[in-house]
Amino acid sequence: EAKRSGRGTHRYYSHAFTLAASSRLSLEGRLRRALKHEQFEVHYQPLVNLADNRVLGAEALVRLRANGETVVGPGDFIPIMEETGLIMPLGDWVQRTVCSQGRQWLDDGHLLGVLAVNLSATEVRSGRVAAQVRRTLDETGFPPSHLELEVTESGLIMRGDEAERLLLALKDLGLNLSIDDFGTGYSSLAYLKRFPIDKLKIDRSFIKDIPDDRSSVQLAATIIAMAQNLGLHVLAEGVESEAQRAFLGARGCGAYQGFLFSRPVPADEFVLRFLAPLKGAAAGADPGSPRG
Ligand code: C2E
Ligand code: MG
Ligand code: MG
Ligand code: MG
Repeated sequence: EAKRSGRGTHRYYSHAFTLAASSRLSLEGRLRRALKHEQFEVHYQPLVNLADNRVLGAEALVRLRANGETVVGPGDFIPIMEETGLIMPLGDWVQRTVCSQGRQWLDDGHLLGVLAVNLSATEVRSGRVAAQVRRTLDETGFPPSHLELEVTESGLIMRGDEAERLLLALKDLGLNLSIDDFGTGYSSLAYLKRFPIDKLKIDRSFIKDIPDDRSSVQLAATIIAMAQNLGLHVLAEGVESEAQRAFLGARGCGAYQGFLFSRPVPADEFVLRFLAPLKGAAAGADPGSPRG
């Protein structure tokens, strides 16, 4: 059964994938081989300025190219990779792929903004992530100011001041930090004062039923106001309709991502649709003159 179908060739046959692997063990073996043979790929979903639909960057979302055209989404393999420890090499691969890709786009003269990478709870808790990211930034030459790391509230539930120390170590690298799926964790909000966070990403569950559902409306508006009061950027996830976008704009939400603007797309499509110079400018330009 197709869970989601994107444009053209990008279809998500999640059940086909999980069912084809007859056991957990064969699924794990399959994922190990996929890592070894680089069968993962990174897709990019635009992060958009709400007021004028300017593209601010992209969130990097990993996919598994199972065979030929079939693309498997992270919901079907990230949990197994977390349990088996494969998430560490996968995370390293995603970070490297995104940072080299970003370096390439900058070298090609594109105005890039930020590329956001998800960190799983396991990676965060490993204690190795700051060193890993620093090495990747060094080796790829990607400027940390263009990198954003997304962590979830649950990933930050740690003993004592461990989470704070870890986030400070990441912040020291010069990158940006956001709280992903904000509002779905059960942690106390006190951490918002202490942690060096730049952005809250409001979980899609709060956006989904806007503007019809009263409590969704209240919750989303409250999170936006709280972010503003704390001086944090705020982005709404999973915006699918113009009515949602209009509501969020009226409440002062600065940015959004969602199918309304674009689904996650492969790197080559992202650069063509969202990073290339405006069509008119390119067509009208003297072929000998520099772009942009
Ligand atoms: P997330 O970080 O909250 O990413 C947003 C998810 O919402 C993505 O699902 C995206 O495709 C989906 N989405 C975006 N806009 C809309 C919309 O308008 N409507 C709906 N229904 N969905 C929308 P995806 O790509 O399946 O990723 C699911 C989760 O897997 C991510 O949630 C993230 O937690 C995890 N993930 C993805 N890539 C990575 C990765 O490289 N590393 C780690 N550790 N986790 C990842
Ligand atoms: Mg995310
Ligand atoms: Mg999210
Ligand atoms: Mg989410």
